[in-house]
Amino acid sequence: MVDFRAHQDKTEDVMEFHVAVIPGDGIGPEIVAEARKVLDKAGEKFGCQFTYRELLMGGASIDAYGVPLTEETLAAAKASDSVLLGAVGGDVGNSRWYDVAPNLRPEAGLLAIRKGLELFANIRPAYLYQELNKACPLKEEIIGDGFDMVIVRELTGGLYFGKRYTEEVDGVKRAVDTLVYDENEIRRIAVKAFDIAMKRKKNVISVDKANVLDSSRLWRSVVEEVAKGYPEVTLSHMLVDNCAMQLVMNPGQFDVILTENMFGDILSDEASMITGSIGMLSSASLGAGKLGLYEPSHGSAPDIAGKDLANPIATILSAAMMLRYSFDLDDAADAIEAAVRKVISEGYRTVDIMSEGCTRVGTKEMGDLIAARV
Ligand code: NAD
Repeated sequence: MVDFRAHQDKTEDVMEFHVAVIPGDGIGPEIVAEARKVLDKAGEKFGCQFTYRELLMGGASIDAYGVPLTEETLAAAKASDSVLLGAVGGDVGNSRWYDVAPNLRPEAGLLAIRKGLELFANIRPAYLYQELNKACPLKEEIIGDGFDMVIVRELTGGLYFGKRYTEEVDGVKRAVDTLVYDENEIRRIAVKAFDIAMKRKKNVISVDKANVLDSSRLWRSVVEEVAKGYPEVTLSHMLVDNCAMQLVMNPGQFDVILTENMFGDILSDEASMITGSIGMLSSASLGAGKLGLYEPSHGSAPDIAGKDLANPIATILSAAMMLRYSFDLDDAADAIEAAVRKVISEGYRTVDIMSEGCTRVGTKEMGDLIAARV
């Protein structure tokens, strides 16, 4: 197979990046098209070029190849500089894609690609746009000046991947799950969190349950050891129960939250809820190298697919994350994020974030407006 990755080929000072694009199903193709529009504009402005290779995954791949992810698609994704994904899946109650075993359904493609690309870090920002305050369920005095945090969650270890079984002992059923972390797994996710903090406000809060769990005590000591390599970053520790409270009492205190798999699963959903809008939430999954998988936090929204109604901002912000974390193009990422803020402050809204006095626009127009402001 041809390796189409040419890693930042420098021709006349134009850096070239090869992006594997997986539009997926439902609104996926519509929102990914807008993200490409914005990426191209950022490329023009910042002297780089993105070439795209479209790949099928999820329902689209089932229709074409009978499986949600083929070996060829995975190999092509691996050979790229980074992967941009829309969303996969159909109407679960009303689609032929679901009349099969779970490992052949569209969403199985997601798990397989994350595993195949060895992505162990999940990065989810939670940012509150002042203009969308009304959608935030917190009181105004708690929101204050807003919040801007990133949750760095370990994705391939801990309770979800430990040995588990159910047994019967003396006529009593019992179930066992095991939570295992080794120091290498902790070290590599901690390094990711500190690297990300270096691009932000240089503050890491590591979340654990060290008053009870051995795995958390190891977590704490390894994180402290990693912190020594980042003297500019302030590290503190917080117990997970306290963190759950602090997120709704004082969300403004957080910059980077570093945590293990299950705690991160719960806390990242809590953090996304307080931003108020699913159409605005980006995410990234990263591995040991620079390659990452960037996708909106929402699904394929089959109820609004093909109607020019979907909010493309989560995908556009995911593309900005790709520029920041995979390509080190921080200025271009900043420009995209600023363009999104500008469009919001000018009052343009897709239907999901619409409020009185604002101008309603469709998916394409939202993409045009953002691209024009990059
Ligand atoms: P969903 O996120 O697709 O939709 C939930 C609600 O939010 C719907 O009303 C939808 O119209 C709305 N919505 C979502 N994204 C929006 C956007 N960008 N703009 C405007 N409105 C938006 O979740 P669901 O309905 O539970 O799942 C639909 C399908 O997506 C299922 O097949 C599910 O398995 C799949 N899914 C995929 C991913 C993924 O690809 N990562 C994640 C979650 C769900």
